[in-house]
Amino acid sequence: MVINRLRLFYYDQLEKMSLVKTTAIITKASPYKEHDKLLTLFTLNQGKVTALCKKSRHTLNRWNSSFEPPMLCNVQLYERNQYYTLTEISVENPYLSLTKSYKNLLAVQTMSYIIEQFTMPEMELTALFYLLQSVLHALENKECSPDFARHYFSLQFLKETGFSLQFKTCVRCNKPFTGEWFSFSLLHAQLFCDSCTKNNRIYPRFDLHLLPQIETLYYISLDEIKQNSDFLFNYSEIDRIMKELYKGFLSKECLTIHHFE
Ligand SMILES: [Zn+2]
Repeated sequence: MVINRLRLFYYDQLEKMSLVKTTAIITKASPYKEHDKLLTLFTLNQGKVTALCKKSRHTLNRWNSSFEPPMLCNVQLYERNQYYTLTEISVENPYLSLTKSYKNLLAVQTMSYIIEQFTMPEMELTALFYLLQSVLHALENKECSPDFARHYFSLQFLKETGFSLQFKTCVRCNKPFTGEWFSFSLLHAQLFCDSCTKNNRIYPRFDLHLLPQIETLYYISLDEIKQNSDFLFNYSEIDRIMKELYKGFLSKECLTIHHFE
């Protein structure tokens, strides 16, 4: 009886072991114990996973590479009961230039932070993976600015997670946007027009001239940005709006990501 139970337990453990091969972007690398590292990998097939990378902090380690964000790589992971250990890695693109400029690094950090904070572990998010990869690629090839990259990614992330903004009419009175201001309704996760903003004394309020910029950032593709460098964005104001949108995103509990691809 005892033997059977043990055997059952053993087989149970066996079944839960597997090898995972996937493409991944490193979003975080932290030291772990004396010699190891913990890597947060945003993978194509498994979403976000944390993997133990043994002995990677030795000077002469078998990996022959220091793993830092936002490296793009092909990895093989050994998985046991949802704990992952890195067994093989080949670097596709280290995105070295992105770690050498402060502004690029800041953009990378913002994008990594969003993945880190607002996605569930092991949830396959293919569209989001490709979004991150293409933004990193555009940034490395200087097809867009670091400011554009981080705001574009932040807004596209919300869009991908089902946070759809309506730019034609006010969510409350259904009239087109006119006047001086617009604001963001945390309750509706939508935009209020000038008169609804004033009548309801909503703060913070934003200059209506910024609305077309947000709309462009919301609908534009990276290819269009490459072809046209005439887009002018007021990034410090967009930053304020983005903070408000994320507040709305969090209060709406859109965290259960339902409609990818
Ligand atoms: Zn209105």
